This record gives sequence, structure tokens and C-alpha cells, in this order.
Amino acid sequence: MRAVRYHGNRDVRIDDIPEPMCLPGFVKIAPEWCGICGSDVHEYLVGPETIPSVGEPHPITGETVPIVLGHEYAGTVVEVGEGVLGVKAGDKVAVEPIIRDNDCPTCTSGHYNLCPQLGFHGLSGYGGGLAEYSVVPGYMVHVLPDNIPTDVAALIEPLAVGWHAAKMADLRGGESVLIVGAGPIGLVTLLAVKAQGAGRVVVVELTATRKRKAAELGADLVLDPNIDDVAAVLAAEFPQGVDVAFDAGGNARTIELALASVRPRGQVVNIALWEHPVEFDMFSMLFKESNLTASCAYCNDHTEVIEALAAGTIDVAPLITGRISFDEIVTGGIEELMNNRDAHVKIIVHP
Ligand SMILES: [Zn+2]
Repeated sequence: MRAVRYHGNRDVRIDDIPEPMCLPGFVKIAPEWCGICGSDVHEYLVGPETIPSVGEPHPITGETVPIVLGHEYAGTVVEVGEGVLGVKAGDKVAVEPIIRDNDCPTCTSGHYNLCPQLGFHGLSGYGGGLAEYSVVPGYMVHVLPDNIPTDVAALIEPLAVGWHAAKMADLRGGESVLIVGAGPIGLVTLLAVKAQGAGRVVVVELTATRKRKAAELGADLVLDPNIDDVAAVLAAEFPQGVDVAFDAGGNARTIELALASVRPRGQVVNIALWEHPVEFDMFSMLFKESNLTASCAYCNDHTEVIEALAAGTIDVAPLITGRISFDEIVTGGIEELMNNRDAHVKIIVHP
């Protein structure tokens, strides 16, 4: 079968590899649509980092490069291994790609997204969604209702990241929210906080396409630091500060803005993947008793995300900015996201 495999830095190829076998406990899927993640682009540019290099196999999968890519996908079930319940051949499914040991104290206490052995199907081994077929453990499969097509379902995985982040803020309804950065994760967080009952939501973003998307997806106010005096506008609109601020930027200026903007006893949630350590003003946190927390991937969020999509509470279709085939994966997918980043949110790929 054809599969998109990561061989190393700036080396992604379409290979012909053996079709995976469906063992007991596993489900075999024919992927239909698979999103390209910022982490895929990051691995292409500076990796392998998360992807295991030769000599350093992933502790659970035991695999190293070449690795099949694709962890944001949905498709049709073609075979169900012995012992897997609740799914049958022909079902449309979304994959929750977290690989974990299911055995350590973190996993057994319910926080499998924080397992020390954490890996991702499509980055750490066990195949991936950018292939004609994939085989995943039964626990990764979520059956889709008829009204969620597989192109939309390819966005369930990134949406679950935003959903989990919004849940970290423990919204009760009506809270004012600031989201700093409107890349794919900032935008899915916007959708999630709206669906979970947030009140006014302000998004801070620099690029034209993403500012437009934020407004289209329901932001009440979109501010551009190159045009607006963000601090002054926020102070006028929210004299006490906002209830919750999400940092989806991951740099000194974005975390500083998030911390400065929350009300006393407000909540700051970090959802960015940081490349460098930064300094920030812990002293200002003291005088507001600010709560700073972080959100990693997702954990028991997919069912709620699927319900929200099925009910029409969330519409992710505007996030799809490109549709390509396997053959275009490098130039029309990964490199397009590198070179033309501001024009895109999510490019999805069809075999
Ligand atoms: Zn574990």
C-alpha cells in the first residue's frame, strides 16, 4: 500500500509498504481525510524531535524512522479484530491517536494524556493516517454519527486540543476570555470556549487571514498589536481584567499579555508549544493571585467534541483552507504551510 513516511529532516516520501494486519484488540481503517499538523511541519523543518531517531526507539512502539505520518484523521473501518466491541466494518470513525502504556499511576488515575511514555500514532510508530490503511488499538476509535463527514471529522483531533484547554478553564458560563494567537490551536480554542458557554471572547492576532478567521468563527473583538493599543482597549473593555486568558503564542510577549490581562484570581492557560524558556513577571501574579496552568493534548474529550459537532454547536468547516492528495503532500502540504503559513489554517489530505 502507499504511505507517506518521514525519513528524516526535510525528507518525506511516498513509499510502498506492506499492508498492516488487524490483530485481536485492533481495528483496521481506510483513512479518508487526514490533517497536516503544525507538529508535522516542525518535524520536517527541525526534526526528528518527537519522531524517534535511529538508535532511540519509542519506548512503547519500539519503532524508529521511517515513520508513517498522520495523526489527525478519519476514515472507514474495514476490519475489526477479535475482542473489540462497539465498532463494525463500514463504520465511519475518528482516531484519537494517543499512545500510552495504560499501566502507570498517571494513566490509571485517568490522565492518560500525561503518561510518561506518551506517544502519537502517526508520529511515534504503529502506522498513521497518511496511508491507504492503518491499524489502531480499539481504544483509539470513536464511531461517528451519520451527520459528521470524514473531512470535518479529520478536525476532531485538533478540536479536542482546544476542547481540553477550554475545560482546564472550568467555564461556568458568561466568562470573558482572551485568546492570544489565532493559529490553528488558538482558533479551535475559540470554538471550544464559545461552545462551553464563554461570554465575550477577544482574540489577539497579527496576520490578516487568521484575524478574519477569528471573526468568522465567533470572536467578539479581534485586536492586532501592530494596529491597536491592545492593553488600552482591554483596560477600557474589561476594567477588572478578563476572567480567563489563553496563551496560544508561546513567547515572552504573549504570556506577558495573558498574565497582565486577567482579573484578580483570574486564570491563565498555556496552550502553546514553547521553543525557548522565557522570563515573566511572577510578582504581578502575586498581587492578583493569578492561576497559571497548562493544557496538553486531550483526555476523554473526543465524545463531547463529537456530540458538539453532531449537534451543530460547532462548525469547523471554515478551518479547512486546502484539500490535497498524497502526491502533493510535500509541495502542496508541508512546504505550503511553511512558505504560505498566513494563508492557511488546516490543509487536509486524501489518499
Ligand atoms: Zn501511562
